[in-house]
Amino acid sequence: MYDVIIIGGGPGGYNAAIRAGQLGLSVAVIEGAQHLGGTCLNVGCMPAKSLLHASELYEMARTEFASFGIAVEPRLDLARMMAQKTEAVAKLVKGVEFLFRKNKVEWVRGWGRLDGESRVRVTGSTGEISVIEGRNIVLATGSRPSTLPGVCVDHRNIVTSTEALSFTQVPDRLIVIGAGVVGLEMGSIWCRLGSEVTVLEYADTILPGTDREIARTLERSLRKQGLNIRLGVRVASATPSDGAAVVTIEADSGVEAEKLMADKVLVAVGRRAFTDGLGLEVVGIVPDARGAIPHDGHYRTSAPGVWVIGDVTHGAMLAHKAEEEAIECIEIIAGKVSVSDDSDIPVVVYTRPELAAIGASEEELTAAGIDFRVGRFQFMANSRARINHETDGLVKMLVDTASDRILGIHMVGPQVGEMIAEARMALTFAATAEDVARTIHPHPTRSEALRQAAMDSAGWAMQA
Ligand code: FAD
Repeated sequence: MYDVIIIGGGPGGYNAAIRAGQLGLSVAVIEGAQHLGGTCLNVGCMPAKSLLHASELYEMARTEFASFGIAVEPRLDLARMMAQKTEAVAKLVKGVEFLFRKNKVEWVRGWGRLDGESRVRVTGSTGEISVIEGRNIVLATGSRPSTLPGVCVDHRNIVTSTEALSFTQVPDRLIVIGAGVVGLEMGSIWCRLGSEVTVLEYADTILPGTDREIARTLERSLRKQGLNIRLGVRVASATPSDGAAVVTIEADSGVEAEKLMADKVLVAVGRRAFTDGLGLEVVGIVPDARGAIPHDGHYRTSAPGVWVIGDVTHGAMLAHKAEEEAIECIEIIAGKVSVSDDSDIPVVVYTRPELAAIGASEEELTAAGIDFRVGRFQFMANSRARINHETDGLVKMLVDTASDRILGIHMVGPQVGEMIAEARMALTFAATAEDVARTIHPHPTRSEALRQAAMDSAGWAMQA
């Protein structure tokens, strides 16, 4: 009998396993896919970041190197770009296998199904069945891409992010349905590599839910780069047609019905918790209306001894959220007082410029009737950004008027994803804007923009 059985070897599952191993618990991870690492390592964060980086270098070589005095004529070798991505991912997957060995985690290969209290039935790749037992079972089965009614994903011309990470040719025309994080990242990659990209979004903003000013700033940058972003359009259908695809946009107030042709259509309208074949009914767990497995706030499901973390439960579908929940869940199982905190999850969009945000948006604070001040600092006035020719964007800090406590930090700018952990730290320690304004930030770094935004919230930004 194991102390912990984890179903799913993604960032939720593998981090839970490593922490369990560190705490001296006996632990097995059941993973049915060929490789450990889940969505994030195999068909999500990591391959996407690999192609974002490579395509950014290509785009810079094409359009910006000359301005730095570097004369080159770049040629795209897509096969090599894809191969380096695959090689990098393979090394990361091996890294997880190494960490399993180091922490005495057993990988049980196969698909797990709950089989009664403390029991999991595992079906291997050739159909062989075994049953393993554990005092605790952690469900970390992740998510799968969602689609829309009328949109027929054939995985050839109408695809999910998984296929769009491995196109063997640059599509002449790519339509992306959904201007969320995945849609904008994938649209950026293929736009840089030469596709004519149209992004269709039902909401009247990209990245719905993001601070409006920040979303609009990123939208302007992406449009300048050539992404054709159409907001407020409802896709009625997408169907394959003669080796291509047709997308129909529904007539709506002010918008006429329209048919658009593309070589590829990427459906990027979000993801759904994945619980197929998991046997939830065997232990009496009922998923919520969106298919996610609910928990009590401390990762306990309604079934005794069964826990849930990551994309398969509610909350943001992000790898670092899954990781945080994994640590907390295992520490609770091990009887420790967990001090993890997943209340404010940072969000990063790895476009160019990047977008990074944490805490409340201006719209949320206004709606809640909170009295707040705003500090802003444009990267145009940040010396490092100017030197690097990367001046698009700003840092925006929202501060409680009475207490000076920071309520939200929203940024668009060069590699602001690397700055958001500082923002998270500030929120974790309930920092005031003055705390940040009086913290030395090395010069010249982009992070000075954060300090200047904090100063600006009190009216004394010094470099603008
Ligand atoms: P998953 O990673 O989905 O892992 C679940 C695992 O469980 C899978 O390996 C699956 O095979 C296995 N499994 C399922 N059912 C069973 C079963 N019954 N038996 C055995 N095994 C089973 N997040 C970020 O934070 N940053 C990013 O930059 C980012 N980029 C992304 C880009 C893309 C294109 C996509 C699609 C996602 C991205 N994400 C990103 C989201 C991130 O990948 C997920 O939030 C994260 O992988 C969730 O981890 P998880 O462990 O909950 O689930």
